[in-house]
Amino acid sequence: MAGGVDLHSHTTASDGALGPRELVRLAARHRVRVLAVTDHDSTEGLPEAIDEASRHGIEIVPGLELNTDVPGAEIHVLGYYVDWQAEWFQAFLREQRAERVARVHRIVERLTELGMPLTADEVFAICKEGSPGRPHVAQAMVKRGYVKSVREAFDKWLRADGPANVPRRRLTPVEAVAVIRRAGGVPVLAHPGLANRDEMVPELVEAGLAGIETYYPEHSVAQITAYRQMCARLDLVATGGSDYHGVHTGRASTLGSPHIPLEVWEDLKRKAGELRNQGQGTAKRAPQPPDGAPEPTQHAHGPGESDPPPSMPGHPRH
Ligand SMILES: [Zn+2]
Ligand SMILES: [Zn+2]
Repeated sequence: MAGGVDLHSHTTASDGALGPRELVRLAARHRVRVLAVTDHDSTEGLPEAIDEASRHGIEIVPGLELNTDVPGAEIHVLGYYVDWQAEWFQAFLREQRAERVARVHRIVERLTELGMPLTADEVFAICKEGSPGRPHVAQAMVKRGYVKSVREAFDKWLRADGPANVPRRRLTPVEAVAVIRRAGGVPVLAHPGLANRDEMVPELVEAGLAGIETYYPEHSVAQITAYRQMCARLDLVATGGSDYHGVHTGRASTLGSPHIPLEVWEDLKRKAGELRNQGQGTAKRAPQPPDGAPEPTQHAHGPGESDPPPSMPGHPRH
C-alpha cells in the first residue's frame, strides 16, 4: 500500500514552523497516511490536526515529546496515545511550559549580560502561541543581527554547554516515562542516537518504557540495526519519524522521511492496546507522588531538587 507513516513532527504549538493544519496538508502532499503530532510539552496542536486530517484521509496519532535532563545530555521521551484530555495531564504540561517561559527570561538576561540585549517579548513574538525555547531565542538573535543564522546562535551561544544557555529545571527521563504511562500512553525513547545514553535503557524499561525511536533521519544504518535488535530483545516497539520542524528552523528533515511502513504504526497501536489492558500498575518502578498528592509534577519539581549544573553538553537542537 502506498504511503507511509511519520511518528514524530512538530507544529507551532511548540517549536515547529507550520500550524497544525498546514502540517497535515503537507503530510497529505508527501503521501503520509499516519502522522503523529508530537509537540514539546503540548497537545494543543491536536484538535486542529485531527480536524484537518479527516479531510485528507490521514490518521493522526495523538502524541507529545517531553524534554528531560540528565547530567551532560538532554533526553527526549515521546508519548503516544496518551489520555491527553485528562485535566491532571494538562496541568502537568502547563507546568512544563511555564518552566520553559521562565527559562527564556533567564537566557535573555544572560545574553544581555554578554552584551547582546534582548527582551523575552521579542522571543515570545517569534514563537507566538507555542512553547518558547532556544530555537526562538536564536531567531531573535538573528533578527537583532547578533548572529547570521540559527545554527551560529546555537554553535556560539546556546548549545547545551554554551555561554548563554541556562538549563531547565530538571525532569528526569524516568519521571517522563512514568507520567506518560500514568496517562495511559506508550513512552518511547526519542532519537537515542543523538544523546548517546543507551546505558540508560534498562532503567527506563524498568520504569515502563515501551519503545525506542529507531528510524530517524540522523541515525546511521548501523544504529538502526542496533536499535531494532535492542527492541526485539527487550520487547519494545521500534518506532520512527522525521522530527519535522519546518523550514527556517535550522533543522533539515523532510516530513515523511525516512520512509516508514504502516506495520510500524500497527506495532505501536498493538503496544498501546497491551499497555491499556495491563493497566498502569505494571510500570515496575514508576515513582509515586509523595503523600498521595494527585499531581505527578510533585515529584518532577519536588523540594530539594536543584537545577542541573550549568555545564550541559549534549545535542543542542531541540
Ligand atoms: Zn527531540
Ligand atoms: Zn522532536
